[in-house]
Amino acid sequence: MAEANRPRKPTIEDLDIAGRRVFIRVDFNVPIVDGTITDDTRIKASLPTIRHALKRKAIVILASHLGRPKGRRCQDLTLRPVAARLSELLDSPVTFAETAIGTPAQTAVADTKPGGVVLLENLRFHQEEEGNTPEFARALASLADIYVNDAFGAAHRAHASTEGIVRHLTEVGIGLLMASELDYLGQAFDDPERPFVAVIGGAKVSSKLDVIHNLLERADTLLIGGAMAYTFFKQQGLPVGRSLVENGLLDTARDIMARAKTRGIAFELPVDHVVTAEADGSSPYEVLAINDPAIADRLAVDIGPETVERYSKSLADASTVVWNGPMGVFETDAFAEGTTRIARAIAAVRGTTIIGGGDSVAAVTKAGVQDQISHISTGGGASLEFLSGRILPGVAALPDRPADPAV
Ligand code: ADP
Ligand code: MG
Repeated sequence: MAEANRPRKPTIEDLDIAGRRVFIRVDFNVPIVDGTITDDTRIKASLPTIRHALKRKAIVILASHLGRPKGRRCQDLTLRPVAARLSELLDSPVTFAETAIGTPAQTAVADTKPGGVVLLENLRFHQEEEGNTPEFARALASLADIYVNDAFGAAHRAHASTEGIVRHLTEVGIGLLMASELDYLGQAFDDPERPFVAVIGGAKVSSKLDVIHNLLERADTLLIGGAMAYTFFKQQGLPVGRSLVENGLLDTARDIMARAKTRGIAFELPVDHVVTAEADGSSPYEVLAINDPAIADRLAVDIGPETVERYSKSLADASTVVWNGPMGVFETDAFAEGTTRIARAIAAVRGTTIIGGGDSVAAVTKAGVQDQISHISTGGGASLEFLSGRILPGVAALPDRPADPAV
C-alpha cells in the first residue's frame, strides 16, 4: 500500500542547511540530442528546491543519472550540457565535476562557497550506483553534511544515490518537488475528495494491471480507453478485429469487471470507436459502435464521440481525477481527438486533477491544457509505481518526521 510513502518526511525546509554542504539528488534525466537539451522540464521542476537552498546559503551539490550508460563513461551521456542550461536558468555559475565521486568531485565541492552550486557527472557512469554498493554510497555521502532527495522520477529505484546514501548521513529529507508529488498523489489515494474518477488508457492491460487493481479499491468510477479496452471487449465476446488484445489476460479482465461490480463502482468501457486499417493514419477511418461487426479485420485506434460525451459527463461531476494512459493512438493526429477532448474535459474539472505517465503527460501537453491541471507528475515509472500502491524505496529509506509533540 502507498501509505508507507505518506508519513510526512522532513523537507528541505525542516533542515538546517545554512552554510552547509547539501547533497540534492535531482532528476536531470532529460532528452539530449547532439549535445542540445530538447526538453528542460525536469531541470525547471528542480529549481524551487535549488533556489531554496541557495537562498539559505547552502553549498549545493547536485547529482543525477542520465540515460543508461551501464556503468561506463560515455560522452553522449555526460551531464555537462545540463550544467550549462542550469546556470542559465539560475543566472549564476554552476561548477561541473568531471566525476561523481573521488578527487574531481571533492575538489569541486571544496572550492565552492556557500550559495554556490556543483553538478556532479552522471551517477550511472559508475556501475556501483545501480548496484547500490555501500562503498559508493559512502563516497557520495562523504561529499556532504545533509542529504535531500528531490528525484521523484528515480524514487522507485533502490540505487546508491536514492537509497544507500541515506544510511551514511543523519540529516536527511525530501525536496520541494518530491514533497509536492507525494502530497498530490498521496492525498488522492488516502483521502480523496469524492467522487473520485480514474481514467485509464494506454496500450496494454498487462502494464497497468496493478494500477487498475489499486484504483478499483479507491476510486468511485473507472473510465477505460485506449487499446486496453479490447481485452475486456474480447472477453465479452464483442468484435475486436485486429485491435490489440492480450489473450492471456481474458480471465483477469473478467475478474476486474466482477470486482468493480462487487464494489459497486462504475467501470465504463467505450461505446463507440474509430476504426481503420492502419494505425499510422494512412488509411481511411470511420466511427463505429462497439458492437458493430463492420470492424471486420480493421483495428480500433481511438474512442468515438459518444464515448467522449459520456466520459466528459462523469468527469464534470468529479472532485478528484487521476488520469493515466491515452485514449487512442494520439501520436497520429487523426487519432488524437478522443485523447485531446478527454484532456480538455479533465482540464475543466474544478477539483483536484492529477496526470501521470510519460505518454499521458505528452498527450496533455499536446492538447495544450497542461496549465489547467492541478498536478502533472514528473515521474514516469515512479508515478505508475505509486498509482499501483507500491512503496517507493527512495521514499521509504528516509525516516519519518518526528510526530508533533502532543498538546
Ligand atoms: P503512459 O506512458 O502515459 O503510461 P502507456 O505507455 O500505457 O501510457 O500508453 C501509451 C501508448 O498507448 C501510446 O503509444 C498510444 O499510441 C497507445 N495506444 C493507445 N490507444 C491505442 C490503441 N487503440 N491501439 C494501439 N495503441 C494504442
Ligand atoms: Mg508510456
